[in-house]
Amino acid sequence: MKHAAKLGKKLGKAEKELIAAATKAIKQRYRDDWQEVGAALRTRSGKIFTGVNLDAYLGRMAVCAEAVALGRAFVDHEHEVIEELQFRPGQRVLDVGVGTGISLDAYPPYVHIVGVDPKFSVISGYRSPQTNARLRERSTGVAQHSLHIEGRAIDVRMPGVDCAGLAACAEDLKRGGVGYYRASDFVHLDTGRFRTWRG
Ligand SMILES: [Zn+2]
Repeated sequence: MKHAAKLGKKLGKAEKELIAAATKAIKQRYRDDWQEVGAALRTRSGKIFTGVNLDAYLGRMAVCAEAVALGRAFVDHEHEVIEELQFRPGQRVLDVGVGTGISLDAYPPYVHIVGVDPKFSVISGYRSPQTNARLRERSTGVAQHSLHIEGRAIDVRMPGVDCAGLAACAEDLKRGGVGYYRASDFVHLDTGRFRTWRG
């Protein structure tokens, strides 16, 4: 799977730049129930375009952040990114909002896109082997060969969302690892084989 391979890579400078741009976009425009997700995409020219979602106040026209970012690239004359999206006429891509159903596989390979939902608090993402070793000395429950070191794991919580419920949702997907840490109030998610545990 293309994405699993992508997720398995460490974040490079280019990806970090994209995440920073998406984060900046949503931080500037964040409003509960209105704009909650930021996206950033890099086109062939190397230029970065950002967008935020336009939510349900638009009725059935709720638009996802990635679609807004694509629209901005298009208006700025980078229309090839739209023309080269690998969709066939009549193919259904819209489920909830315009853009929600867009699969990353449809993007031309030179387009890089990230989405940022600031409501997810990231407790821990990629860890260098040094950081992981330091954490292992300080606390129990940190694996020596942690998937965090491979950039394949993330520890998150969502303000206002019960972590046990979040873990249950993730477990229902039956994909990857799901660890629920009740005392520390976060959920570990990774792209390894399906397994669950309590921390
Ligand atoms: Zn973790």
